[in-house]
Amino acid sequence: MSGSIYDQGLDKNAANHTALSPISFLKRAATVYPDKVAVVHGERRITYANFHRRVSQFASALVKRGIGKGDTVSLFAPNVPAMLEAHYAVPLIGAVLNSINTRLDAPTVRFILEHGESKLVISDRDLNPVMKEALAAMDAPPPVVDIDDALADGGELIGAVEYEQFLAEGDADFAWEAVDDEWRAIALNYTSGTTGNPKGVVYHHRGAYLNALGNVIDFGLSPQAVYLWTLPMFHCNGWCYTWAVTAVGGTHVCLRKVDPALIFPMIRDHGVTHMCGAPIVLTMLINAPKDVICDFPQTVECATGGAAPPSAVIAGMERMGFHVTHLYGMTECYGPSTICAWQDAWDALDLEGRAGKAARQGVNMVTLEGQRIVDPETMADTPADGETIGELVLRGNTVMRGYLKNPDATDAAFQGGWLHTGDLGVMHPDGYIEIKDRSKDIIITGGENVSSLEIEEVLYKHPDVMEAAVVAAPHEKWGETPSAYVTLKPDSEGQVAAQTIIDYCRDHMAHFKAPTKVTFGPLPKTATGKIQKFALRDREKGPAA
Ligand code: ADP
Repeated sequence: MSGSIYDQGLDKNAANHTALSPISFLKRAATVYPDKVAVVHGERRITYANFHRRVSQFASALVKRGIGKGDTVSLFAPNVPAMLEAHYAVPLIGAVLNSINTRLDAPTVRFILEHGESKLVISDRDLNPVMKEALAAMDAPPPVVDIDDALADGGELIGAVEYEQFLAEGDADFAWEAVDDEWRAIALNYTSGTTGNPKGVVYHHRGAYLNALGNVIDFGLSPQAVYLWTLPMFHCNGWCYTWAVTAVGGTHVCLRKVDPALIFPMIRDHGVTHMCGAPIVLTMLINAPKDVICDFPQTVECATGGAAPPSAVIAGMERMGFHVTHLYGMTECYGPSTICAWQDAWDALDLEGRAGKAARQGVNMVTLEGQRIVDPETMADTPADGETIGELVLRGNTVMRGYLKNPDATDAAFQGGWLHTGDLGVMHPDGYIEIKDRSKDIIITGGENVSSLEIEEVLYKHPDVMEAAVVAAPHEKWGETPSAYVTLKPDSEGQVAAQTIIDYCRDHMAHFKAPTKVTFGPLPKTATGKIQKFALRDREKGPAA
């Protein structure tokens, strides 16, 4: 007889195999911690039992409106309870959650609604002016449910029904059917589309489940976790923390906008243990006016990523009582994929030495199968010498299914059996990766590759610099030359000359890498707080002919 003894009578069945889905985290949390506060929003408290009940009503109300498997439901809202509830109610009925970046303009929102074939829009009153304009331009606009949040600043109501009324239409005893297929789409998240139209990244239940649990393990969430929502939930489903915090039965603390004057007292008053944010959020906290910064007794775990955090920013946060964990990821891989896992030996380093280690993007999260730095043509690994630049590629169960209705882009992204990130980096001898640039951001001066991040790292160490970005400027002799854009700290504005900054860089790095131009002023940002280097590059090219 052929085959192994393990090939017979040991088949998959309903008892030993179920589809992985993060929906089950809420089911469990509501059973285990029914009276625990699941969600804090202003004065509101929603227990896990209530969270579960509201999600049941939400799902039932969706079904009553004819929404079902494979339908797209779009959310356009800040971090409010409805956003969290949508993360469970929409996929519970097999529909797909499309959270739209709240800083997008009406034409892009319209593009997303049309491309994603949205069947229903749930939109916050503050954002409705944009949504209204987007819908007005559509031939067949989907119906709208308004979120009339008590903490909204203004806006208007544009839908036929308000969210709480909509929930009331639903049945609190709605039966939660088990998810039948873990490969089913759970979310549709559009990339920022810095060139051309945004691409619709499709996540599946399995990947969301795994990345959420990866976060729990790698960021150390426990049932005592009090998670402050400084990261937008629309960004990669809040890097999957929308599901991770519920997995441990922790408390979600909602936050409509990133404002240090709100954040510091919330950390103190709610006993916040964990939060995430792009480095810009950290910079805002470090540079907050003295009178809004308040003391808190706990050490707050703060994960940052989405852009490289300069080591000076990490050090600044640690001084204020945060412990910073550095993550790397992209929309295509459910947010966080690599983590700068801490090594005990680094404890012995001084603050700057520790921050320098933590500024690297690190190693694969426990739930990501692999990460490599390769020559993108041959797919051969670059030497682990900390110097040879190659492309970061990723593989595993937390990589997207692909781009919606875009097989060419999907094929290109998956060439050679790995997800091509378009990020350039090096592999260090200890197996930790360090990103040097996005392929398109690298500066080639006199034939040498110069990492803009390396120059920014030096700029951020200058005591008067609050934010900095370096891009390539065309140069007659060298081809390109580094050009720095700098926002000074409020007290230093108008006090520092461009040449002082250039000299500082020349004193701290090889001269050919130092910027030759410095422009002061505010920096253009994306909705997730990333500096828009393409806009700065356009400025360097001058007005189009
Ligand atoms: P967008 O493409 O709109 O910026 P993504 O979240 O998909 O949104 O961005 C992913 C990109 O952000 C990565 O490809 C990389 O260039 C950058 N990025 C993310 N995390 C880090 C990090 N820790 N260090 C450096 N760059 C990062």
